Amino acid sequence: MPKLTVQDLQPKGRQVFVRVDFNVPLEPSPEGPRISDDTRIQETLPTLKLLLEKGSSLVLASHLGRPKGKPEEKYSLKPVAAHLGKLLNCPVHFASDCVGPQADQARAALKPGEILLLENVRFHPDEEKNDAEFAKKLLGTANIYVNDAFGSAHRAHASTEACAKLASQAAAGLLMAKELRYLGGELSDPKRPFLVILGGAKVGDKIGVLRALLQKANTILIGGGMSYTFRLAQGRKIGTSLCEPDKVDLAKAILAEAGQRGVRLLLPEDTLIVQELDFAGRKVSPGKFTKPGEDIPDGWEGVDIGPKTQETYAKEISSAATILWNGPMGVFEIPACAEGTFAMAKAVAANQRAVSIIGGGDSVKAVKKAGFGEKVTFISTGGGASLEFLEGKVLPGVAALQDRP
Ligand code: AMP
Repeated sequence: MPKLTVQDLQPKGRQVFVRVDFNVPLEPSPEGPRISDDTRIQETLPTLKLLLEKGSSLVLASHLGRPKGKPEEKYSLKPVAAHLGKLLNCPVHFASDCVGPQADQARAALKPGEILLLENVRFHPDEEKNDAEFAKKLLGTANIYVNDAFGSAHRAHASTEACAKLASQAAAGLLMAKELRYLGGELSDPKRPFLVILGGAKVGDKIGVLRALLQKANTILIGGGMSYTFRLAQGRKIGTSLCEPDKVDLAKAILAEAGQRGVRLLLPEDTLIVQELDFAGRKVSPGKFTKPGEDIPDGWEGVDIGPKTQETYAKEISSAATILWNGPMGVFEIPACAEGTFAMAKAVAANQRAVSIIGGGDSVKAVKKAGFGEKVTFISTGGGASLEFLEGKVLPGVAALQDRP
């Protein structure tokens, strides 16, 4: 791990500023907003506990939602403070603004072993402007900075970049370090065969990561909406399936590059097709499977990979030594179109010899929903951040952390 981590710090008796990712989903309840999934809070508990054990006090900062630079009740972190207190079994103080007199008083009153959660940093426009003056106020008297919010590390904001640069020590939290170890370390020199499963809506969104992975992977399995643009590039008919005509040339170039590099790039052989898809209503008209190799007829739309493809892909997955998966194989939010995605989750979970890394977003939801969360090696918490990291882009929130001496 080239970056300083919380394990390297000696923060006894000092105040530590921790950028966490408490961007959790909230739902209304009679007692006020309720956290419907606290995974992001749970994931950062080891870092918080370690820092408390080391005798420091903690000032926590996070964003929640997209409040557009001004306070909005529905994006308040107040319910998170109460929930965190229950999880850690200790009181968590809350400052109703992340900067200003109340926050300063609350910081000054903090004793070792205590925690203060600041209100949503995005209630101030200066957060997203990466403003140094605002960062100074956010940090307050803390001069040790810890970033455990990998999911926000691709954003150059005050709490993710400017604060890190201002602090005298800037280290990765345990969760951040784990993300960097798996997405960076494990995949920089993967055990082979290295297999990538790539799905999701659009080629355009995954082009960077696809290009980067073409240089490393032995096999790439393509699924989801993005597969039809590839099919079109091969001169096949795709009916009314999702496709990006302006990306057809790019898809052709990728197929050619895979051939030159000796990367086996597999596309779905058969497809679940429907005539009507009502995404908002989560339903489709009765579907049928194309035969392997058959085109998609006019007026029909591909919504999932078919049984033959599932079988072929599962066999490939069973012999891989490293597996990276990003993006669903179909419109998995609709139960009738989720079988292919769940089949991939099952196949990845069944290969216990492989290092399996689930790269954020919908594939994480699918693996968890299928009940295989415990059976994979690592689940990334950062959707956009993990894609950018895998593309080889520098994440500002990581670059700003100090290197190990
Ligand atoms: P992404 O965020 O790029 O990983 O894409 C995820 C989205 O892709 C999900 O909301 C899926 O419903 C959607 N998706 C996957 N397969 C298809 C498909 N065949 N047609 C339309 N949308 C799809």
